[in-house]
Amino acid sequence: MLRSIDHFIGGSSFASGERQAEVFDPNQGQAQAQVRLGTAADLQKAVDAAKAAQPAWAATNPQRRARVMFKFKELVEAHMDELAELLSSEHGKVLADSRGDVQRGLEVIEYACGIPQALKGEYTLGAGPGIDVYSARQPLGIGAGITPFNFPAMIPMWMFGMAIAAGNAFVLKPSERDPSVPIRLAELMTEAGLPDGILNVVHGDKEMVDAILDHPDIAAVSFVGSSDIAQYIYSRGTSNGKRVQAFGGAKNHGIVMPDADLDQVVNDLTGAAFGSAGERCMALPVVVPVGDKTADALREKLIPAIEALRVGVSTDPEAHYGPVVSAAHRQRIEHYIQMCIDEGGELVVDGRGFALQGHEEGFFIGPTFFDHVKPSFKSYQDEIFGPVLQMVRAADFDEAVRLPSEHDYGNGVAIFTRNGHAAREFTARVNVGMVGINVPIPVPVSYHSFGGWKRSGFGDIGQYGQEGLRFWTKTKVVTQRWPDGSTTGENAFVIPTMG
Ligand code: NAD
Repeated sequence: MLRSIDHFIGGSSFASGERQAEVFDPNQGQAQAQVRLGTAADLQKAVDAAKAAQPAWAATNPQRRARVMFKFKELVEAHMDELAELLSSEHGKVLADSRGDVQRGLEVIEYACGIPQALKGEYTLGAGPGIDVYSARQPLGIGAGITPFNFPAMIPMWMFGMAIAAGNAFVLKPSERDPSVPIRLAELMTEAGLPDGILNVVHGDKEMVDAILDHPDIAAVSFVGSSDIAQYIYSRGTSNGKRVQAFGGAKNHGIVMPDADLDQVVNDLTGAAFGSAGERCMALPVVVPVGDKTADALREKLIPAIEALRVGVSTDPEAHYGPVVSAAHRQRIEHYIQMCIDEGGELVVDGRGFALQGHEEGFFIGPTFFDHVKPSFKSYQDEIFGPVLQMVRAADFDEAVRLPSEHDYGNGVAIFTRNGHAAREFTARVNVGMVGINVPIPVPVSYHSFGGWKRSGFGDIGQYGQEGLRFWTKTKVVTQRWPDGSTTGENAFVIPTMG
């Protein structure tokens, strides 16, 4: 009998529903638990709990709300090892990556601890005769987050950290593939003093997602996942009058200029292309050397570095990366490798058929490297989301700017160079949301904001930082004038005096 992963509603575990999905251990390739696939009725229970609790939470002063976030941060730190192990056991990423997943989420919680300062608003004294104007940010009410499998700690914390600190109640619908860490986070929020009903976790698939998108009491939806679904979420949610931000897939390019430090590039690329088995939306699965000389030199250094990568179980401290999330996903990656071969790419390192001794059923795939990939290939245009690096040779700088700019996705991009002018020119011209200069994975720190362009992001407000605060609040502007004469005449307001 498999362990059951239930919803978390109103501060406690809630089991309901016939439908369940299997949750795998990707290291073993076996089901280890079952997660509930909830219905509109389950969502209604979460919304009822949220609705009952939210007004009092919004009325709690921001400093007290911040104290809950502080306490939560301490609890997550104290449970770091437990959370990382749980995360790796369902996702498959190595423990160091799981700790990073939790840590990057915590950084947004740290930012949310500053909510009293962030919510201070603006004030104009004397905007007209006797008139003052102020603007204040108020919570929306109930917000929802729908999250992907690849960062089951970080992305939920990006969303609920900002939403809850700002005074909202929250309904989280995590990925059904690794749902246990989000539940633990909700339990730790409760332990930190969050009132019951402010953070609820409901599990499910499309049925639950549609119920969220159609629920009249949910004011805003934040989504992260693949692009087709992001677009669907954005159109259905906004057509129901909700505020929606929906972040999608990616195909990030790393531009290598002829003057780049190639040893540094190889080091950065092996981490950014293959780390976490390439299952990161800010991974670098495309490398674009400028000029054949750069390409040949880079290729020569890259091959031994890729061949030296160690693929292992997620608890292996020496492993560079672990298995991918599911058998179906491994099959999809292998399908794209075959497609790239058929399209005319040169397969330089082939990761297919990789088996780890003692874990033959695990969802492992070796690192794969292609040279001479062309922009016309479908395998280049699509997101593969696996340990596959494609090299597209650019003739010159202009072509290197054009490739990521003309690609459908626009999440992140990196340029490797020692030339400040080239970097500056590239940054100004490239049509992509987040740029790294000699930084392979330019995920912005928590006090800036995260957001890709084109098919990587639908909606116009980013995640976390000031943009996150904007997303989870609405601005009220008050213009006030008080009647004259209250300090003179027979109705004079008496100013108390001492003594
Ligand atoms: P996914 O799109 O399959 O799932 C994301 C969420 O949508 C899950 O909660 C899932 O239950 C739900 N969902 C799945 N199918 C649905 C449907 N038909 N209708 C409604 N909801 C549905 O994504 P994933 O495989 O979990 O995650 C990987 C994807 O997420 C990649 O494309 C990756 O690039 C992207 N991603 C993007 C970012 C970013 O910030 N842009 C960050 C992380 C991951």
